[in-house]
Amino acid sequence: MNTRAEGSAGASTAQGITEGEIAAGLRALGLTERSTALVHTSLRSFGWVEGGAEAVCRALLDACGTVLLPAGAGDHTRMPAPPGLVRPHNAYWNAVSWADFEQALDRAVPYSPERPVDRYLGAVPEAMRALGCAERGAHPLFAFQAAGEHARTLLEAESPDRPLAPIEALAELDGDVVLLGVSHEANTAIHLAEQRLGRSRFYRYAKVAAGVWAEFPNLGGESHRFDDIEPALRPATTEVRIGACRARRVGVRDLLAAVTEVVRADPAALLCPDPACRCGAALAQRLAYVRDRRV
Ligand SMILES: [Zn+2]
Repeated sequence: MNTRAEGSAGASTAQGITEGEIAAGLRALGLTERSTALVHTSLRSFGWVEGGAEAVCRALLDACGTVLLPAGAGDHTRMPAPPGLVRPHNAYWNAVSWADFEQALDRAVPYSPERPVDRYLGAVPEAMRALGCAERGAHPLFAFQAAGEHARTLLEAESPDRPLAPIEALAELDGDVVLLGVSHEANTAIHLAEQRLGRSRFYRYAKVAAGVWAEFPNLGGESHRFDDIEPALRPATTEVRIGACRARRVGVRDLLAAVTEVVRADPAALLCPDPACRCGAALAQRLAYVRDRRV
């Protein structure tokens, strides 16, 4: 595990980049054994990695005191809303009939920590789950996994109605968000800042046991315009190259403050103008929140 490579930190070779080089790059980014970091990753961004996604996991565990990774299993548990259940500004679809809903319930699988991590999150979170050294939360749609000193603190913050609470706990610990080869579109913490302002709070549905489904509030919405936050975060961001990977680190408190500022200034910030997109529902939530509470 502590196979720090010879040679310069983060330099990739014809054979690809090694676990030791990735760990050195993460240290150059500012991560230490005292760091607590929520990490979003693209394995492909590194180029060829000796040992693949597992090597990236081991480098993270080596360089960083506590690692928090997304670990949702919605690919397996997700359900449509039942017929007739329409929440305002919820941007979701209903089963067309109860027969279709029952079929969806048959097809879905209840959450358990052994379920594979959702594929859209990339190869690294699933590799971390498979390694077996991280604990995993219990949210059927939006679990996290964590390893290291503060893993319990982060995961125990989660509850069925507060899937993003581990990021609240990360902020209390003055942790970091680390983006490895991904843009802010992968930056889940932005959803937390939105939700604190009444925006991007969606109800979603999951199978929770044989023949049983449930509704879960406060799931985040669309993120395809989140990279618009980049200029506002630049002063607070540390950036290095790890092989071919653009690696960035920003304190989660700085991140939440920056998003809060831009959304307060413009309720449509970090959203697209397409009325058919979930962005429109998120904006409507924010406008209703401002109207009702004037904040
Ligand atoms: Zn949109």
